[in-house]
Amino acid sequence: MLYTIPDYYHEFSCIAGECEDTCCAGWQIVADEAALKKYKKVTGSFRKRLRRSINWKEGTFKQDKNKRCVFLNDENLCDMYTALGEKSLCRTCKMYPRHVEEFEDVREMTLSVSCPEVARILLGKKEPVRFLTYESNKEEEYDDFDPFLYSKLVDARKVMIDILQDRSKRLDLRVGLVLAIAHDLQVRIKREDIFSIDDVFEKYQTEKAVQFVEAKLSEDENYAFIKKMFRNQYLMERLRDDWEPHLLEAESLLYGDIGCSDSEEQCTKYKEQYTKNKQEFHTWLNTHMPDYEIWYEQLLVYFISTYFCGAVYDGEAYVKVQMAVVSVLLIHELLMAQWLKNEKMLEMEDVVDTVYRYSRELEHSDPNLNLMEKLMRRDLLSWFKKDE
Ligand code: SF4
Repeated sequence: MLYTIPDYYHEFSCIAGECEDTCCAGWQIVADEAALKKYKKVTGSFRKRLRRSINWKEGTFKQDKNKRCVFLNDENLCDMYTALGEKSLCRTCKMYPRHVEEFEDVREMTLSVSCPEVARILLGKKEPVRFLTYESNKEEEYDDFDPFLYSKLVDARKVMIDILQDRSKRLDLRVGLVLAIAHDLQVRIKREDIFSIDDVFEKYQTEKAVQFVEAKLSEDENYAFIKKMFRNQYLMERLRDDWEPHLLEAESLLYGDIGCSDSEEQCTKYKEQYTKNKQEFHTWLNTHMPDYEIWYEQLLVYFISTYFCGAVYDGEAYVKVQMAVVSVLLIHELLMAQWLKNEKMLEMEDVVDTVYRYSRELEHSDPNLNLMEKLMRRDLLSWFKKDE
């Protein structure tokens, strides 16, 4: 079995009561069979509380009215951990924020940026992320697993990550190239022409391909696209009650026209104001937070390294890349809204806060991840539409 981890994997350790949030609220924690069996055998003073705090039928920990796990105390510490020790935790609690993507004979481990401490580690990292591998003797076989497609996806992901980390190119050009590669790849997967995937990698090393992508990037369609992507977020399941008000406030700061009931003239004014704000925000970032493009590179690499190879199961390589790009664009929009709200100021903690809250809403809900992919298929970037 091959294991891969990003090079910052071992830097993480949970800061527990010091954490500004908690990972034990907002989503239903499902305990594994082995843990449930162990809980049934617990004796002593904690037994009674344990028995009544678990939904035995569903195998989940009960929550209070604020969707907090009932074992979580007012200091944001786990009473089960305190009473029974670390070993008593179920697999989900032991693992988080570690995330595993499973493939035949491969385990790809990452740390989820939905944990503020992980977001802080990733955003503080200046060097390009490297991926480390190690092996064990364990072997396994999956039914219906296509090792050839998987190996091509792994190659494609490596090519895309190398492009994203090539800091000699502008970030938007790197992103455009990666989207174009993923799109070409998708066409070949659809045609079941997996053998020709290597040609795609060569094609995007050429000057002609770079010029094609540059020309597409200069087309002025970003405003309508990003606004649509922003509004798509209201279609998602909400994990925390404070998320929707946060989105509504950000939307009004960014685009001004909630409800879309304004006249055309007013909408044009909002668009002009948005463009002006954006230019000013970029100037501000370049002066006060010049590493911001590095954060976006790290986040793009994070999303692509985590999700792209999952295309071996559903053949949807392109939507996973567009989801990564749209996620980073949305994080950028949310940061701009926060900057406007703070009277044109931003602290690093605002960035960490935005990243982990966005990630939590998207990545901790399978329905949201599925919906996001569906929306990416529906709302394809306009420069690819004519090929469909
Ligand atoms: S969110 Fe991260 S740092 Fe906070 S309690 Fe959970 S694992 Fe620890």
